[in-house]
Amino acid sequence: MDSHSNVLITGGAGFIGSHLCEFLLGKGHKVIAVDNLFTGSKENIKHLLANPNLRFVPHDIIDPLYLHEGVGQIYNLACPAAPVHYQFNAIRTIKANTMGVINMLGLAKLNKARILQASTSEIYGDPLEHPQKETYKGNVNPIGIRACYDEGKRVAETLMFDYHRQHSVEIRVARIFNTYGPRIAQNDGRVVSNFILQAIRGEPITIYGDGLQTRSFCYVSDMVEGLYKLMNSNTAGPVNLGNPTELSIIDIARKIISLTNSQSKIIFMPLPADDPYKRKPDITLAKEKLGWEPKVDLDTGLKQTIDYFKKQLEQK
Ligand code: NAD
Ligand code: UDP
Repeated sequence: MDSHSNVLITGGAGFIGSHLCEFLLGKGHKVIAVDNLFTGSKENIKHLLANPNLRFVPHDIIDPLYLHEGVGQIYNLACPAAPVHYQFNAIRTIKANTMGVINMLGLAKLNKARILQASTSEIYGDPLEHPQKETYKGNVNPIGIRACYDEGKRVAETLMFDYHRQHSVEIRVARIFNTYGPRIAQNDGRVVSNFILQAIRGEPITIYGDGLQTRSFCYVSDMVEGLYKLMNSNTAGPVNLGNPTELSIIDIARKIISLTNSQSKIIFMPLPADDPYKRKPDITLAKEKLGWEPKVDLDTGLKQTIDYFKKQLEQK
């Protein structure tokens, strides 16, 4: 692709999307960031708005998007990602993952653009295979409270492959595992931001369940590089992108307490329904096909995230 072609990022004012905007602008691309600002914020891209290569378009992808200019690549990230937010209006979440994805695929078809879908490790549900490989078909509850998101993302993957088969749209599917870093919203509700904010404020650290459930956390700069490499590779995917270092939730709580020198106590709260018990990506495919693997270890990434939240709280 001509480096000056427009790149569209939906969800461009969100956590991962804002880092991707910054990364692509740094590579000399013209970026159009589309966002309805449901969970994202213009604050996340404020430092980029003076750049003439960035255009921000307030828009909900559930509605068709008409652009004056052509686009060469589309990163489709628009969808609330944290359980509290995607469950807030479950039907809108399903619409973003179906109608929204159809709209973006239509735009890709019209522009002969390549489109990358931000899929998720959630499509594996509460996995019976560990670690999860791309060949694993998943264990998802289709009628549970997480289904608007995980079944939604499964349909989104189906739509991508059907548009590819039926309309020859060039597709890329990234299965993103838990990602953290600066610019996660303070009210996001996911584990890393909750624990860091609680630890800095000296509030109790809220562990859901017994804390023995695991996750594997990837720092946002590694994720952005992985998304970029996948987009510009010859592989449609799906490809797992994540950091295979697996940790129990209680261990992440202890680590954050120690890195923040916090006096916070740990408290235990009920485990939400359908909360996956284990999660760890097998990233062999990403290593082979993209030459990608995460570089930022958990301590380094957490320290940077803690610094970010400390500065945020000082500004208030
Ligand atoms: P986020 O909530 O910060 O970002 C999502 C962005 O999309 C927000 O700016 C939000 O305002 C916007 N948005 C939501 N619905 C929209 C709509 N209908 N139209 C236009 N904009 C809309 O979350 P994030 O963590 O940056 O996630 C980005 C993408 O990556 C999501 O698609 C998410 O499902 C996927 N993902 C993230 C993770 C993670 O751990 N962060 C893991 C797996 C998948
Ligand atoms: N979790 C927790 N306390 C919190 C927030 C989350 O114990 O304040 C747990 C949650 O139940 C889950 C894990 O941490 O087992 C990761 O949750 P998150 O919402 O960050 O991501 P996801 O479940 O979507 O992977």
